[in-house]
Amino acid sequence: MAIRQIRTIGDEILTKECKPVREMTSRIRELIDDMFDTMYEANGVGLAGPQVGVLRQIVTIDIDDGNQYVLINPEIIEESGSQTALEGCLSVPGKNGMVTRPNHVIVRAYDENMEQFELEGEELLARAICHECAHLHGHLYVELVEGELRDVNAEATEEAEE
Ligand code: ZN
Repeated sequence: MAIRQIRTIGDEILTKECKPVREMTSRIRELIDDMFDTMYEANGVGLAGPQVGVLRQIVTIDIDDGNQYVLINPEIIEESGSQTALEGCLSVPGKNGMVTRPNHVIVRAYDENMEQFELEGEELLARAICHECAHLHGHLYVELVEGELRDVNAEATEEAEE
């Protein structure tokens, strides 16, 4: 287990298409463990392979609902409804912005034993699934931001000045 370096916006690796995982190996299991460690250390709710420099279709998610989700080769097969909320990304430190996403998704993926399963997500989980799956195809949420990308600390500073 180890903390890996999180790649940030401007790094070309974040714009690349990831390759699917064909078989589970000890290296990939280690990568998944490291991704959880790295995500928790950075107080994130999701992380995707390219964010730690690995162009593989692997996503980890923990939205504090008691589950640790691992999505390998995920594919969103159904989406409905919509939600608009502030979104951020560990690869875009100190920023957030308003993004509209589906409110409900079903994703088909493989687990750590390479067994296929489907996961249904609503609200924050749906948002996290969409956000992380986009990373696997070289996309960042900043492409979807409505209006300006904001400085996370701007509001805090304003409040402190009042
Ligand atoms: Zn992200």
